[in-house]
Amino acid sequence: MKSQDVRKQFLDFFKSNGHLIVPSAPIVLKDDPTLMFNNSGMAQFKEYFLGNGTPKSPRIADTQKCLRVSGKHNDLEDVGFDTYHHTMFEMLGNWSFGDYFKKEAINWAWQLLTEVYKIPKENLYVSVFEGSKEDNVPFDQEAWDIWKTLIDEDRIILGNKKDNFWEMGDQGPCGPCSEIHVDLRSEEEKALKPGKEEVNNDHAQVVEIWNNVFMEFNRKADGSLEKLPAQHVDTGMGFERLCMALQGKTSNYDTDVFTPLIEKVEQITGLKYTSDEIKNISEEQNKTNIAIRVIVDHVRAVAFAIADGQLPSNTGAGYVIRRILRRAIRYGFTFLDIKEPFINKLVEVLANQMGEFFPEIKSQQQLVTNVIREEEASFLRTLEQGLQLLENVVTETTGKEVSGAKVFELYDTFGFPKDLTALILKEKGFSYNEEEFEVELQKQKTRSRAASEVSTEDWNVLIPGNVETFVGYDKTENEVKITRIRKV
Ligand code: ATP
Ligand code: MG
Ligand code: MG
Ligand code: MG
Repeated sequence: MKSQDVRKQFLDFFKSNGHLIVPSAPIVLKDDPTLMFNNSGMAQFKEYFLGNGTPKSPRIADTQKCLRVSGKHNDLEDVGFDTYHHTMFEMLGNWSFGDYFKKEAINWAWQLLTEVYKIPKENLYVSVFEGSKEDNVPFDQEAWDIWKTLIDEDRIILGNKKDNFWEMGDQGPCGPCSEIHVDLRSEEEKALKPGKEEVNNDHAQVVEIWNNVFMEFNRKADGSLEKLPAQHVDTGMGFERLCMALQGKTSNYDTDVFTPLIEKVEQITGLKYTSDEIKNISEEQNKTNIAIRVIVDHVRAVAFAIADGQLPSNTGAGYVIRRILRRAIRYGFTFLDIKEPFINKLVEVLANQMGEFFPEIKSQQQLVTNVIREEEASFLRTLEQGLQLLENVVTETTGKEVSGAKVFELYDTFGFPKDLTALILKEKGFSYNEEEFEVELQKQKTRSRAASEVSTEDWNVLIPGNVETFVGYDKTENEVKITRIRKV
């Protein structure tokens, strides 16, 4: 089943069960001080759970563009290294705002997976919240009893607060949840260990696909829980993981969500990506695979963020986007040996692939391409020199911790985000002194305040006297030019 059809069937199913289908909210949040990016389907409905305002319908379904690179849900470090966590992913979701509750939600989830998508029942496991003394929330007997009518009790697992009590952030609506996991291992592997033991255990082929949250509480700023005015349902299913299960694959990157992007990278680099089915690959090939996964993942995050109005910049959400892109650029430079801007060329593939459902990526295609190309060109100008400096630093370091001042120099002069430097150092078995970095950063802040830097959103107006610094974009209709001020 093609990914387009997987998405459509989800929405059709909930539409036929009385849900209003709404578009995804933008990936970037502009008016929520507790959250930088949409990290789940429920974020755009948060206020309804809290009892503020009325939704267009008590039953809603959609697919939400999510980004998990900061805050409570941050998967960045796993991306590329595993085959089922992305920075940007689609979350299919259905909601009840004070309407239906556990019984309907669980029955529909089961019906959709086993009857519509026809996932074999013997490949599924479900989990139920065991309760938490700390929060005074009891074991979810109700969910257990509903599941019991659908699935063998041996396949129901108790989950702790970490896995089965869902919270968007440190504050806000939350509640116990019941999750569905799919076992995609080979028959040989299944015979060795029951799937049940691999649930929530970071196994790449026993993965969580769908979370059904029963929203009953609000976590207050002081950490305590209060009951919400009504009971709600909030579900989220990972679209790319569902496609993996339905397309008979064992990696999200082997589904048609990613293969067109991977093929384009192969075409540009002349390298080959090996699918998850091919085992015993060389260390070299493994590095190539990781780099390709990182790049095809990150380009989606960056492209959708820009299309939704978040340009890369030096502060806030814009800097998060810039960091993600620079991470991808460096993977291409070091592991795919591509020294020219090329990631921007993937935008066309993405627009053709996703543009029908997400028109913004099509309508903003030119802008997104230009911004990424300019960002690539800009970082590539200092990347090689910076890497060389880092190499020298590592060679000169006795012990395994490099100086924070050097990491700051890379950040300040060469545009290396500190997490990128940390990643490169980690590959070499090193870390850096974070306190020293912070000291240097503070010193620089004091210096630039003294130099009366004026900073507004994506525009930094600099008074001469600083090193070459990114200062913003000059936008004309179909062209984005990066304006720089050089050291004087
Ligand atoms: P995991 O335990 O695998 O990290 P999660 O419990 O953090 O997932 P939820 O917050 O429950 O995820 O989100 C609902 C669904 O969204 C998950 O069941 C999963 O299918 C999907 N999902 C979560 N994080 C990611 C991600 N980084 N990339 C792709 N899909 C994801
Ligand atoms: Mg997670
Ligand atoms: Mg989980
Ligand atoms: Mg979960």
